[in-house]
Amino acid sequence: MSEPPDARSCQIHVDPLSGRSVFVAPARAQCPREEALDECPFCAGNEHLTPDEVLRSPADRTLPWGARLIPNRYPIVVDRRSSPTPAAPAATAAGHRPAHGVHDVIVESPRHDRSILAVETPHWRASWELARQRLAQLALRDDLVWGGVFKNSGRAAGASLDHVHSQLVALDFVPPPIVAQLAAGGGDRDPFSRIIAAAEREQRVVATSTDLMALVPPAPRQPLETWLVPRQPGPWFHDAGPSVVAGLADLVREIVARIERAAPAAEFNWWLHQAPFRTSSGPEPGAGRRPREGCVPPGWRWHLEILPRISPLAGFELGIGCHIVTLSPEASARRLRAI
Ligand SMILES: [Zn+2]
Ligand SMILES: [Zn+2]
Repeated sequence: MSEPPDARSCQIHVDPLSGRSVFVAPARAQCPREEALDECPFCAGNEHLTPDEVLRSPADRTLPWGARLIPNRYPIVVDRRSSPTPAAPAATAAGHRPAHGVHDVIVESPRHDRSILAVETPHWRASWELARQRLAQLALRDDLVWGGVFKNSGRAAGASLDHVHSQLVALDFVPPPIVAQLAAGGGDRDPFSRIIAAAEREQRVVATSTDLMALVPPAPRQPLETWLVPRQPGPWFHDAGPSVVAGLADLVREIVARIERAAPAAEFNWWLHQAPFRTSSGPEPGAGRRPREGCVPPGWRWHLEILPRISPLAGFELGIGCHIVTLSPEASARRLRAI
């Protein structure tokens, strides 16, 4: 296999009008598409086609793996701690800075499964446990402030390889949706209790398990959008216990199966939102990027947002910044429950 592209040029450019951050990652242009590859780098037996794994399940390397976590060969960020020749930050123009962080891939099955519904249950649960372990590791670093997991399923949703996988990122700033969610959660009542109570009252609960609830949010961006929320407050997924992690894995599959039955061949994304790694310690705030003490409201919860890609993002969404949805939240929940 050819050498991976030089990712040291990864930068974040900040738009002066909106404050929006754009990751400039030229190396990702070389990210291979499925049809351009002779062999799938994620299948068991082809481990030599990927960087060395960071974590695997089971940890015992004499046993075959069921899930593995590897550095992304085409990252959007560079880990200054492991990069052999760190980029020189001084070379950046105003409004630009090196994109520092961690970008991993979680390979969710040793087989060439294309759907998460086809993955063997122990491997699927192990994939989530690897994500939890990796986030717990990264949360201890003082140069990173936030981490999460996301999934692109289907070409329109951004997947380039068919073999089931997710991505994990850890960044040196708190991303805007998290800043907004934490700010909205201010005040004396925890917003997730209100969200759950309203979902129960308005019959938007889709499914429940011992530790989690799946509900259609009050303002979904797409038909069938569903959030998975733990019953007990907890700002960090990486603090969740084994039964919660396994329960999340199982409930994700149940909801994706329901979405696929309600909207066959629907592509989707999901992302795990959690609180910044630290809420009270750490270095001095840099350009407002580091969370302040006490910024996580009491009762705040990590959660998973599953967004089917049923209608395209169009001018209104991109230019006006609001979404239009053609199915009421209650109707989405009824459809998901009915099948
Ligand atoms: Zn494969
Ligand atoms: Zn969220």
